[in-house]
Amino acid sequence: MSVHRLTDYHVHTPRCGHATGRMEEYVETAIAAGLAEIGFSDHLPMYWLPPERRDRSVAMAMEELEEYVADVLRLRERYPEIPIRLGVEADYIPGREEDLARLLEPYPWDYVIGSVHFIGDWGFDNPAEVRRFAEWNLSDLYARFFALEIQAARSGLFDIMAHIDLVKKFGHRPETDLRPVYREVAAALAQAGVAVELSTAGLRKPVGEVYPHPDLLAECCRHAVPIVINSDAHSPEEVAWGFADALALARAVGYRQVVRFSRRQRTAVDLD
Ligand code: ZN
Ligand code: FE
Ligand code: FE
Ligand code: ZN
Repeated sequence: MSVHRLTDYHVHTPRCGHATGRMEEYVETAIAAGLAEIGFSDHLPMYWLPPERRDRSVAMAMEELEEYVADVLRLRERYPEIPIRLGVEADYIPGREEDLARLLEPYPWDYVIGSVHFIGDWGFDNPAEVRRFAEWNLSDLYARFFALEIQAARSGLFDIMAHIDLVKKFGHRPETDLRPVYREVAAALAQAGVAVELSTAGLRKPVGEVYPHPDLLAECCRHAVPIVINSDAHSPEEVAWGFADALALARAVGYRQVVRFSRRQRTAVDLD
């Protein structure tokens, strides 16, 4: 199955403090893989924290945001052979919606990816904080996590929701039946009008599974939630990583289209 209609919109840069390689190398991998487009979406600064608490190994510094945008726009001139989109991965922090909107406002984004990486002050996907899973009943944790995802989707701040079941990253799963939760999540995403990413990053993590779980992806398809296929690349060789398998899975659960973004307008593209 060919990936030539696909885009990779979830791509980091060394500015976030935990990715490697030059931006040019990410673009060149996308070209070599035959993707239709690439988009950068580095971690937005930790806008909700006071400057002294912003962790430079998690996200770019506030004073780097402008240079990040300029770098992406400059790469467009250098690589006319592939459209290069300007995106960003923004944390959803309840109560900080206006701060986020204000920070995003000045820039010509093609899309904004919304992520839940924090439950309160707990960066639950950070390997350094993994022991805090032990404090939770997993079914309560999943309920809390998905409630945040739904709230984020409904905020209207985001075009694409990232790794929509990231809470499973290290393999923690409740024994309860998640299907009713999946139905509720998919219905909420549909109602909010956001797209969801099918991310191959989970295959490279302890859980060893794409985000979202195939049952949740199937539920998204049933509710007509648009998808994009993303890698969440933190190194150049991860661009388009696992895309042929992801495309096969998307088709297997019923998807016939993916979506693309330009200046926050969404267009559907048929899969071949
Ligand atoms: Zn990252
Ligand atoms: Fe993320
Ligand atoms: Fe990411
Ligand atoms: Zn991510």
